[in-house]
Amino acid sequence: MSAVLSSPVTRAPWRQRLRARSALWLLLPMAAVLLATPWLPAFQVTLLNHVGLAAMSTLGLVLLTGVCGMTSFGQAAFLGLGAYTAAWLTAGSGVPAALAPLAGSPWLALPAALLLTLAIAGVLGLLTLRLSGHYLPLGTICWALALYYLFGTLEPLGGHTGITGLPALRIGGWTLDQPQEMAVPIWAALGLALVLAHHLLDSRTGRALRALNGGQAMAESMGVPVLQVKLTAFVLSALLACTSGWLYAMEQRFVSPAPFSLGAGIDVLFMALLGGVGHLWGALAGATLVTLARDFLQDWLPRLLGQGGNYEAIVFGLLIIVLMHKAPEGLWGRLRQHRASGAADGAAAGPVPSAPPLPRRAMPARGSLVLQVRGLTRRFGGLVANRDVDLEVRAGEILAVIGPNGAGKSTLFNQLSCVDRPTAGEVRFLGRSVVGWSPRRLAEAGLSRTFQHVKLLPGMSVLDNVALGAHLRGSAGLLRSALRLDRAEEARLLAEARRQLDRVGLGALAQQEAGSLALGQQRLLEIARALCADPSVLLLDEPAAGLRLQEKQALAELLNRLRGEGLAVVLVEHDMDFVMSLVDRVAVMVFGEKIVEGPPAEVQRHPKVLEAYLGAEL
Ligand code: ADP
Ligand code: MG
Repeated sequence: MSAVLSSPVTRAPWRQRLRARSALWLLLPMAAVLLATPWLPAFQVTLLNHVGLAAMSTLGLVLLTGVCGMTSFGQAAFLGLGAYTAAWLTAGSGVPAALAPLAGSPWLALPAALLLTLAIAGVLGLLTLRLSGHYLPLGTICWALALYYLFGTLEPLGGHTGITGLPALRIGGWTLDQPQEMAVPIWAALGLALVLAHHLLDSRTGRALRALNGGQAMAESMGVPVLQVKLTAFVLSALLACTSGWLYAMEQRFVSPAPFSLGAGIDVLFMALLGGVGHLWGALAGATLVTLARDFLQDWLPRLLGQGGNYEAIVFGLLIIVLMHKAPEGLWGRLRQHRASGAADGAAAGPVPSAPPLPRRAMPARGSLVLQVRGLTRRFGGLVANRDVDLEVRAGEILAVIGPNGAGKSTLFNQLSCVDRPTAGEVRFLGRSVVGWSPRRLAEAGLSRTFQHVKLLPGMSVLDNVALGAHLRGSAGLLRSALRLDRAEEARLLAEARRQLDRVGLGALAQQEAGSLALGQQRLLEIARALCADPSVLLLDEPAAGLRLQEKQALAELLNRLRGEGLAVVLVEHDMDFVMSLVDRVAVMVFGEKIVEGPPAEVQRHPKVLEAYLGAEL
């Protein structure tokens, strides 16, 4: 199939080596800051510390908004949660007796703040994340305001004056009460967070997180528990903000509600957008830019324009508009364009190592009934897209569903794959009724599909896109991924993805961005992704559309081989030459009804077919 490939791009080995080690590169700025602080005046170190703190909560938004596609205005509220928990436990009034052992210790306040944030973000996430479109950001505004007013009005939190007199952070006998000293935990924590986030994105969980951004329905079909992954991203982002808030409280030694307002939440979002919301480095770039620019403007504008009026906010707003025009991908996105790199952030680098193959599912016996459709009807209001359809599919056969546009083929596929629920009738998969199942449960049971309108993650590498199909064959979660304890499993998942890519002839393009492929190649990518799930039934919606002749022949060869392995394949296709020479049976649909079914030669000659649909075409 290699003849099918067009212009495979090989990347310079040095670049691959660089990417493989890029987690350590993430630590360079942190090390530079820490080495510089002893020689800088205190006010500059304080400014740098604020950059570090802002970068940490911005990193949360880069993950949530940039990677997962969920916009939140509420990040500052979680900052406040971290800061206020620290302040209240170490210097506040009214700490109940039950919490007395925690009181006074900044170090114990950290896990307490994280636990509280986990609980509150968990509940808020469950309430908010089901909202779609504009309702999600609006929801985040609501609880950001609620938490902000809570900070300002709760008696034990000191109202609008806040809590003062927090004890300094101590490590052993070392008291961290100078900016130079606080720089150590702040920049170390940021470095750690960046490295863990980098690991996370370059993993099974990372692929699922990235799939939330524009690929939720597809991800669910690949077995990704979308709501759970969304909640994970949301809580993780909140925990980063909370840690930043705790460090902020330790650095300031007092807290008041003002820095945790809705406006502050918008600031964090600006930092993420300006820095480059799609890249981990964007968090640092955005935090640096906004913090330093604000400091500069606060210094210089009153000298230029006088003390009256809040010119800083106006100039800042203008600056943001200009930057959004000139660099909509953010500063980091802009820099990356110049580097002309084709791979997505966190994409697996280098050649895929050989790894033991993943275990395979037991296939149904050849010839046994795998899919059974009875009396399937799907109405959309007055329109009947499927009417009383009966269909049977057996292991080791290829069935084609053909019919003119609008005949109801894709609708039928959506019922078969539980993306949609039939109005009446039944679908049985391996003997069990699957009506009402989630696409994820069906994927777990062994049904895999491709989409008529290709659904892939264009910014992610081809290999990562395909590996998403093997999601259910791995188990590494958030912690294992972030701590890099998933490498053996990850190597097996990527090796499987690579094998399936080789199988469809796209092996040489594994490291390309998926969005850069031609449409035909994208369809092949989807087939490789579906095969990665090790299915017993494969549904292909117009797999040959957009393929060149050679690619079609190669695809027919592949489907032939899959049939030989005992797979059941159901495909919707318009290319009659392709269908007739390949498949075992053809079902013809017209206006939502199946009018004829049989071997290709018979169907071709059937008077009903000639009359109703195919006419002179055959
Ligand atoms: P095919 O795949 O055979 O071209 P479809 O299954 O996509 O046809 O569509 C069959 C009919 O159902 C069309 O008339 C289409 O407009 C309609 N249809 C499909 N999906 C929906 C939907 N979600 N809501 C309303 N009508 C729909
Ligand atoms: Mg269709």
